[in-house]
Amino acid sequence: MELRCEICGAKIVGKGFKVVIDGANLIVCSRCAMKNPSKIVGYVDLSAPLPRIKRSSSRPLRDARKPRYRRQIVEEIVEDYAERIKDAREKMGLTRELLATMVGEKVSTIRRIETGTLEPTVTLAKKLEKILKIKLVEVYEEEEISSRKSYSEEFEPTLGDLVEFKD
Ligand SMILES: [Zn+2]
Repeated sequence: MELRCEICGAKIVGKGFKVVIDGANLIVCSRCAMKNPSKIVGYVDLSAPLPRIKRSSSRPLRDARKPRYRRQIVEEIVEDYAERIKDAREKMGLTRELLATMVGEKVSTIRRIETGTLEPTVTLAKKLEKILKIKLVEVYEEEEISSRKSYSEEFEPTLGDLVEFKD
């Protein structure tokens, strides 16, 4: 891809600058861009594949760059689940067999959970919480940056999209 500066006509190597002069979007060389630093609205990197840009040009550029945060509910089994389950079961006078029947699991599963060799699933832990009246699942909110992009909102720009003249 070869581009020439729309002001001086010089061949643009590497980065071309997008400037808006008198309402017209121009792609110019760095020299011409530096003469009009307040008119620079972005740049085009010609040595790299074209960046994906938002179709809607009315949105400010920094909005598209802002990372999107996604709230996520995380459920985690408490670390001392084994002791909590064993203590609560014994206090209630339940046998492992009876507790296993109540939650619909094998006795061996309950034994492994109580010895700490098997971490219960969140579903099983919730059943045990109800029966034993204890807290086994910790719920907290986690914020993470979503890098997932919606492709319907984006498109590969062509030169015509990058250079738009206002009528
Ligand atoms: Zn130029």
